[in-house]
Amino acid sequence: MANDKKGSCCGSEDTDLEEDEECGCGCGGFKYPDTSTKNNPNKPKFIADEEFFKEFENYAYSLGFKSIGYTQLTPDLLTKNKFMQYTNTIVLTIEMDKGIIETPPGEKAQRLNDLAYEKTGRLTYMLSDYLREKGYATEIAHSYDSIVKLSPLAQKAGLGFIGNNGLLITPELGSSLKISAITVSIANLPVQDENEHAWIPEYCEKCGKCVKACPHEALIEKETCCGGKEVQFVRKQCIGCSQGCTYCIEGCPFDQKGYAHVKNKFDKMNAKLKEKQNKKFKPELWNNWAEQNSQMFAGLVNGATIAISMIQNEEKLILLEKADHNLNVTIKELKELERPVADLMFLIDEKDIKKILGDTASIKFMDMLSSGKIKVYGFISQTQLIDKGYMAFLNRLGLSLGGGSCCC
Ligand code: SF4
Ligand code: SF4
Repeated sequence: MANDKKGSCCGSEDTDLEEDEECGCGCGGFKYPDTSTKNNPNKPKFIADEEFFKEFENYAYSLGFKSIGYTQLTPDLLTKNKFMQYTNTIVLTIEMDKGIIETPPGEKAQRLNDLAYEKTGRLTYMLSDYLREKGYATEIAHSYDSIVKLSPLAQKAGLGFIGNNGLLITPELGSSLKISAITVSIANLPVQDENEHAWIPEYCEKCGKCVKACPHEALIEKETCCGGKEVQFVRKQCIGCSQGCTYCIEGCPFDQKGYAHVKNKFDKMNAKLKEKQNKKFKPELWNNWAEQNSQMFAGLVNGATIAISMIQNEEKLILLEKADHNLNVTIKELKELERPVADLMFLIDEKDIKKILGDTASIKFMDMLSSGKIKVYGFISQTQLIDKGYMAFLNRLGLSLGGGSCCC
């Protein structure tokens, strides 16, 4: 399930808005006042030392910010027609008041939510004042404004990753947070290019609780063209800002159990999955299959090599190589291979492997090929394929060189 990675409502979340400030969710593009007490310096400084960053972060934490990241603001992270003077960006997260989570959507929850935006803005202006006082010029992206796509920005800064609920998920706060940003004249921000939270969308694929929790069909699961699933955010359906709805946050395991618990569960799930997958890579299984379906490979010349790959495991290949008129089966780690070693590759969904291995007459294999469930890729020219005896092989499978069903 691919994630659409769109924000779950205005302000704290990313807004890929087409035109101006209005996001269409009912919040109306309300503006919070600029509460700065310091003006930008006339001649701003551009360099800060390590000691300064330490002091700055200590001050930010003392104000209540939970995580701080640094990144470059790129045009794709700005809402259309918006502009910020500096691209050097400090991204901040702060905990969302628990009262918002505990209060059902409605006037009261919305008021609490508005207060949370107001508080985030006020504290961000205080931090900006601190920077200005130290000689740096700043500009603020308020958590409620739609100038900057804040969730993707925070993801870029390595603070967390956007989940299926369209919100940033962080180790410290799950999705129960507000985000703000300060663009600043400091050119040597300690920018982090890595993101250790990129596993989150994979967990979301198996979870989907936020989709079920959303009462307004603002999160919709859709089939992708490749048979997968993706969650789409329907902004106009979302009552996050207009009524303080947080159902997609409270239903999320990151908020209920915490990041470390979910990561631990994810690692265990993956280890089990790997174990299950490894069973499907046993050479003796594929040897049996090759022997039972030897007719299929008749006519291939020595040296002809076919690879079988599983969609869910890109790390390993099953190689079937004709040598001394036999078909030898080897399992190879992809990282061991420096160049393409196969002439053709069949890409199979892991869940179909059992059916294929249990079939002695190649019928299932052919059925799946004709229905497009198994994809074929060619790595050598048509002439080379003909020379290696693939013409008859492909015909037997209902494929043709350069034909519609074959990618050669
Ligand atoms: S649960 Fe509420 S806040 Fe979340 S997407 Fe649905 S309507 Fe929006
Ligand atoms: S509820 Fe599940 S699917 Fe939704 S964001 Fe949280 S972990 Fe991801």
